[in-house]
Amino acid sequence: MSHTPFRIAKVNTDAIAGNVKRLYEITGVDDVLIVVKANAYGHGMVPAAKAALAGGATWLGTADIAEALTLRDAGITAPVLCWIHAPDETFDEAVENDITLGAVSVAQLNAIASAGHRAHTTPRVHLKLDTGLSRNGASPEQWADFMRTAAELHASGDLDVEGVMSHLSNTSDADDLEQLKVFTVGLSELKDAGLEPKYVHLAASLAALTLPETRFNMVRSGIAAYGIAPTEELRPEQFGLTPAMTLETRVVAVRRVPENTGVSYGYLHRTAGENTLALIPLGYGDGINRDASMNGPVLLNGETYPVAGRIAMDQFLLNVGDDPVAVGDHVVLFGDPALGQPSVHDWAAAANSIAYEIVTRLIGTRLEYEYVGNA
Ligand SMILES: *Cc1c(COP(=O)(O)O)cnc(C)c1O
Repeated sequence: MSHTPFRIAKVNTDAIAGNVKRLYEITGVDDVLIVVKANAYGHGMVPAAKAALAGGATWLGTADIAEALTLRDAGITAPVLCWIHAPDETFDEAVENDITLGAVSVAQLNAIASAGHRAHTTPRVHLKLDTGLSRNGASPEQWADFMRTAAELHASGDLDVEGVMSHLSNTSDADDLEQLKVFTVGLSELKDAGLEPKYVHLAASLAALTLPETRFNMVRSGIAAYGIAPTEELRPEQFGLTPAMTLETRVVAVRRVPENTGVSYGYLHRTAGENTLALIPLGYGDGINRDASMNGPVLLNGETYPVAGRIAMDQFLLNVGDDPVAVGDHVVLFGDPALGQPSVHDWAAAANSIAYEIVTRLIGTRLEYEYVGNA
């Protein structure tokens, strides 16, 4: 069977590798952990992970154990940390596959130690402290018990407590620095409990790029590695980061229509005169956010046009007016603005969302991934 791909997410692995290098230059840390959860924010987990390692990443991170196991199945042997676990997780497969586990409670520490006994190995854990985000780290009132248990299991050789981490809210620099203070208290309590883990990490992309105090000896970066800024107020080029993904397709139909022709479901758009419509075969079935209807910028033959009317499941239209367009013409939804292409941040603005969501929501069941680059 063969077919011609036409809904294409083109991912430049050299851009990912280059962005990892930039993260080392900017942060000066010993270890950059690249987060490849959620299919590497829509970029394809295994190729993105390999590109990150080629760029010098010493760690990979995922949310779930299943994601980490996919990396192992692909032959990736680098350290992998993951931090969201099922309530009844046994940790057996994770421990057998040498996956480093974020731990948030005494119960998790004990469960991980038990998995280590069953596998005759010493599992590696990073203690996850909540310092204000109110998500799943151990909260300060739990620290005494949590740290005592961790220290005991470390001393007895049942666990290797090799890291301590927390995660910031990105509310403001002041709020993040407040969390940094709480984290610093946590580190000193941990020291009092007898533990000084090798890896200390707090910053994700935003703090890694903008708050030097939070860097310690490792940062965890996802979005920046893909060449996307961590807030809509920043742009990747400010940090020398290159967008890795180009979302592209080709015009599949062209028609000339009279004035006042309704366009797509709900006729949100009607032609103002005799106009040419170009049919673009991408829709919310591919993860294109329907909130960008009437808005999302699309590059076609050197011009940028907003989506005309609603984005449907499989397609949407552009109204190119009287401009020339032909079936087969190349179309870019987002890519590298340095090449004159709309950016993922432009789509975030058009959809009233954030760039993280625009790329991570891409659905790969019919979208085809094409990897370019040597990394
Ligand atoms: C997703 C995640 C990151 C990466 O965040 P970015 O903003 O994409 O760099 C880091 N740490 C944790 C705990 C996360 O869940």
